[in-house]
Amino acid sequence: MRPYEELIVDIPNYPKPGVVFKDLTPAFADADAFAAMVDDLAAHFADRGITKVVGAEARGFIVGAAVALRLGAGFVPCRKPGKLPRTVLRESYALEYGTDVLEIHADALTSDDVVLIVDDLVATGGTTTAMVRLVRASGARLAGLGFVMELAFLNPRAAIAAETDAEVFSLV
Ligand code: 5GP
Repeated sequence: MRPYEELIVDIPNYPKPGVVFKDLTPAFADADAFAAMVDDLAAHFADRGITKVVGAEARGFIVGAAVALRLGAGFVPCRKPGKLPRTVLRESYALEYGTDVLEIHADALTSDDVVLIVDDLVATGGTTTAMVRLVRASGARLAGLGFVMELAFLNPRAAIAAETDAEVFSLV
């Protein structure tokens, strides 16, 4: 068992009744566990020529920035509307009720970039597919998607496969 696996905690009925939230913050807080998750993600995508890691606020920043550092890549944030100060590309995505929007700086990626999308957890794949569309709109090449945890019972791979054939890799 990798050190982060036993530090992911189930929180029943959060953020609402009937939902079991996976709390990764204890695994982020443990130095060995955090290093192991970052090393395992970076090792899987080493030697792919990754130039930029793209992550969405807020937990995607924690894992994504650390993986970028390990890969010798830059980090590009996807943010909620109005948070980025310069010209942005924007994509909306479906939530259980309604929609949400993610933005990326329009000049953050170029056609020379090879991109890895990183997030702490993929559930329905809605957040991820918005990031895939933002990377595509930027003209960069998406080389892969890496997650600490995948909720396979929500079948995020089907939603992702509808947008890209890039490899999906999850640690847990
Ligand atoms: P999706 O868009 O795939 O349905 O949800 C994934 C996004 O919501 C990720 O950015 C992730 O941080 C957050 N998320 C959804 N469910 C959970 C959960 O149970 N635990 C954590 N840590 N994040 C979650």
